[in-house]
Formats: sequence, C-alpha cells, structure tokens
Amino acid sequence: MRASRFFISTLKDAPSDAEIVSHQLMMRAGMIKRLGSGIYTYMPTGLRVIRKVEAIIREEMNKAGAIELLMPLVQPAELWQETGRWEKMGPELMRVKDRHGREFAIQPTSEEVITDVVRGEIKSYRQLPLNFYHIQTKFRDERRPRFGLMRGREFTMKDAYSFDRDLAGMQASYKVMFDAYTAIFTRFGLKFRAVAADNGAIGGTGSHEFHVIASTGEDAIVYCPTSDYAANMEAAEAMPLAAERAGAKQDLVKVATPGTTKCETVAELLKIDLKQTVKSIALTVERELEGKVTKENWLLLLRGDHELNEIKVGKVPGLSNHRFATEDEIREAYGTIPGYLGPIGARQPVRVVADRTVANMTDYVCGANEEGFHLTGANWGRDAAEPEVADLRNVVEGDASPDGKGVLAIERGIEVGHVFQLGTAYSEAMKASFLDENGKPAPLQMGCYGIGVTRILGAAIEQNFDDKGIIWPTSIAPFELVLCPMNYDRSEMVREETDKLYASLVEAGVDVIIDDRGLRPGAMFADWELIGVPYRVVVGERGLKEGNLEYQGRRDTEATAVPVAGMVDFIK
Ligand code: ATP
Ligand code: MG
Ligand code: MG
Ligand code: MG
Repeated sequence: MRASRFFISTLKDAPSDAEIVSHQLMMRAGMIKRLGSGIYTYMPTGLRVIRKVEAIIREEMNKAGAIELLMPLVQPAELWQETGRWEKMGPELMRVKDRHGREFAIQPTSEEVITDVVRGEIKSYRQLPLNFYHIQTKFRDERRPRFGLMRGREFTMKDAYSFDRDLAGMQASYKVMFDAYTAIFTRFGLKFRAVAADNGAIGGTGSHEFHVIASTGEDAIVYCPTSDYAANMEAAEAMPLAAERAGAKQDLVKVATPGTTKCETVAELLKIDLKQTVKSIALTVERELEGKVTKENWLLLLRGDHELNEIKVGKVPGLSNHRFATEDEIREAYGTIPGYLGPIGARQPVRVVADRTVANMTDYVCGANEEGFHLTGANWGRDAAEPEVADLRNVVEGDASPDGKGVLAIERGIEVGHVFQLGTAYSEAMKASFLDENGKPAPLQMGCYGIGVTRILGAAIEQNFDDKGIIWPTSIAPFELVLCPMNYDRSEMVREETDKLYASLVEAGVDVIIDDRGLRPGAMFADWELIGVPYRVVVGERGLKEGNLEYQGRRDTEATAVPVAGMVDFIK
C-alpha cells in the first residue's frame, strides 16, 4: 500500500461533541465521519481496523465450531410479535413500513430470525448441537447515542446462537463460546475481564459480560482480587436481594426505622442510606416531601416529563407540583434497561430519585412492592468522565466477598461482549422443537452470544493512547508498519531501498504502508503517531550510508538503528 494512493485525512482538532478520548482520536485520525446522531461512515483507515477485528472473531468462532451465515437487516414484524418483543423493545426498536403498509424491524439482534430458520430446518436430535453466527449491521435507536462508535445507533455486531437438545448440552455450548471470547479478547491485546451479569428481562439461567477495563467505561464492575468473583454492578447488587428473599439476614439491608433518623437534611439521609440500607429510602423520602427539601439538600425528584439533561442541582423550587414518575414514564423517558426492573418488579409504582450526584447524572430508582422497598442504581446517562463509584451504590469497595475469599474492588469497564444462556424462552414462544431419541418433540435449548465489533475500536483506544494519538495493538492496527522514506522522490538510493524493504516485508506477511506523499518528516510522523501505527521505519540517506535504518515502536521514546539486512527479522 502506498499512502499517495490511499486516503489519509487527519485533523488538528476534534469536533466539540467528542467527549472522550477514543471518539476525539478517531475523528482526528480520520477513521470515522459523522453522518447523523450515532451514525458514522467508516473511513478507509477505520474500516481496516474493523476488518481485522472481524477476521479475528471469524477465525476463533470457526475454530470453536460455529457456522457463519448472514441474516437480513430488515425483518418482518410478525416474527417479533411471536416473541412479544415487537412491544417489549419499545422505542429502541427501529420500525419501518413497506409500500404495502407492512411493518418491519431493522434488526437490533437476531434471535427471532435464527429461531425461525432453525425451526424450519431442524427435525431431529441427530442434527444437534448447532451454533450459527453472523457479523452484521445492527440498528438500535439508543436514547443517548454518544462517544462515537462506542454507543452508536447503527453499529456492527457479531451475534451467535447455539441450539442444543438439553440443558447440559446448552451449558457446554456456552462454555465453548465463553472460551472462544477469552481467546478473541486476548488476541485483540486488550486488558479485559469476564463478569457475571444479571439475566434481567431476558430470563434464562446464566450470563457473562466481557468488559474492556477503562476509566471512562459506562459500567461499574465488581471483582475480588484474591478470588474468581467478578460481576457487573447490577448482578452484584441483586445478590443481597436474592439472599434476602431466600430468608438470609443481610447486614446490607438493615432497616432504619422511618422517623427515628437524626439526619437534618435529606442529602445526609440519602448519603447514609445509600451506604447502609436499602429499604428506608423510599419511606423516608416520602416523609421528607412535606416541603423540607431545600437547595442544599440536592435532592431532586424526577418528573415524568423530565429530560435528564434538564435536571439541575437545586432546581426544584417546591415539591407540590412534582410527583414521582410512574414505571411507564420511566420506560418512556429511558427505554427499558434489561435487568434493572428485575428487582423492582413490574406492577407497583416506581419512584425515581435523582440524588446529589446529579453532576454525574447517576440516578437511583426506589421501588416498592409486596416484598418491601428496594433501591437499585442505574447507569443511564451517567457522565463517563468522572465516575464516583464509591458513593453511588450499596455494594462498596472493601465489602467482604460473596465467596468468603476476600474483599471487593471496583473498576470501570466497557461492555464489549455478552454471552447468555437463553434456555427455551424463544424456542417455546416460536414453537421451535426437535424430536428426541424417543421420537418426542422437545423445545430447543438456546444460547446467544454478542460482540460489539465497532465498539471494540473505541474500547481499544480508551486503553491505548498518549498525547500524540492512538496506539493500536498490533493485531488490529490499520497497518502494522509504516515506512517513512526521506526524499523518496529525489533520492534514488532511498527509493530503491524503500521499495526493496517494502517487498520483503510484504513477503514476510507484514501489513505495511509506504508514506510516499512527500510530506516533511514532522508532519509525516505526526500523522502516523495520531493514526497509531505500532511500528515506524525511517529510510534516509545518512543511515543508509552506514547500512542502517531507523526503527521506532509507537511507545518508544527513541529510535533504534537496525542494519538494513536484519530489518525483516527484527520486525517479525
Ligand atoms: P449496553 O449495555 O452497552 O447498552 P447491551 O447490553 O444493550 O449493551 P447487548 O444486547 O448485550 O448490548 O449486545 C451485544 C454487544 O453489542 C454488547 O456487549 C456491546 O458490545 C455491543 N453494543 C450494544 N449496543 C451498542 C451500541 N449502541 N453501539 C455499539 N455497540 C453496541
Ligand atoms: Mg443497550
Ligand atoms: Mg449491557
Ligand atoms: Mg449486554
């Protein structure tokens, strides 16, 4: 590849809507171009990274026995109605009509279509197990598309679906996928962690999320440095509730009797309650409504018609015209967040309280039902810049572990993959069954497995950058090596050596580009540092006369002289 015949278009400054470093650097490096909210053109350099990510995923999926197919983007509403997701998905599901007025969904994922394929194809247990996957464009009408490719509306996902004859088979397929994901994220060269996740709305028996560790991540993950315990925040928070339901006494949910609290302000009360109790908040907040809320209290009630962005600290003048939002209003305002409605239950009114951390846009939802009051944290709209995890939940750093093997630590992550044991929820709804050994029909046991292909780019950058730009892990870099000749068009010696080296690097399987654009060294180097190519080799007359080339790794502070003849071996 020659840079003069490729397309490189870098910017000095990032556009002002780019809030986090990966979005800024991808824009500056010319990897993506915004077309609309959450909708991007993948420019040539960006697309090269996407293709490398896809290739690694494809290789590992194939190795794990999954079979690639390709399902349509536009899917008939009838299939989505069969599972009830046409209604359940709410405004996140993009719907279109054809010229006959028939309704279609633009796929946010493909459980319905694959189940439809399989119910038409699979007759007997002899055909099982099966695992189908595709790498396909998705559309989700996200409430707050942001951070470039990280939370787009149109994005690329690899989604796989396994079909087994029984629970044990499904769990074995799940394990194979779990291991394949571990191999995939290891090959990307990223620091990641697999955490237990709540199955929430989807139901089923088990689920893990794969998170790339980054301080700007939207999710808090809880883990124990001295044991295997790792869970996302929802799963960690759901634990005491589950234990409580099973009758166990939990220190975490000690109830402060309403009315006996000594706190002067609601803010104080909230602070204490957030750390110690779950049950007292909704009660106490209710009592405090009688005009006690002042500016300093920082307590805000979210009205049903409230936009998150409009909430300001201390802006609630008097509470009389405010009321708690109903569950429907919350859904309307935020869309459904799988998992978070779980512990609250479906029937009762849900109260939403935005607490003093409104600066971070983190809300708490208090809910009440026959089982008592519950508090749960939710991360909609959390400003990723300055997370204040320690104050914001009832699982806190230093809590003993659930497995009795140490104390909990908390870090932030970006959800890049998600594996799910679905069980028979979809196959029963869609009547997808097979005949077992006795000739009896049984519903297929399913699992589903997603990877956010385009989100990986953002996540990789959040972990690998410096003040000059991106530092791609070699396995997914747009180019592995850039050859930077000095006076390529004027020095015959330089041109010859560069072309020769280029040919032998290509021969050795290195993904290399020659920068023959004729830029001055400073501008040339700055471009490649911004784009994040891991290796740079400078070819100059002075070095050549001594038989040397100048090598510099993207993280190195200085160049190293490497003999011309040894360069290919040096790189390999
Ligand atoms: P999130 O919690 O970030 O909204 P999700 O749990 O809704 O993600 P899944 O349904 O589990 O997402 O989809 C599988 C994978 O697709 C996710 O793990 C993530 O990597 C990716 N993904 C989901 N939504 C987006 C998006 N809006 N933009 C880019 N990638 C996404
Ligand atoms: Mg989502
Ligand atoms: Mg999620
Ligand atoms: Mg998920």
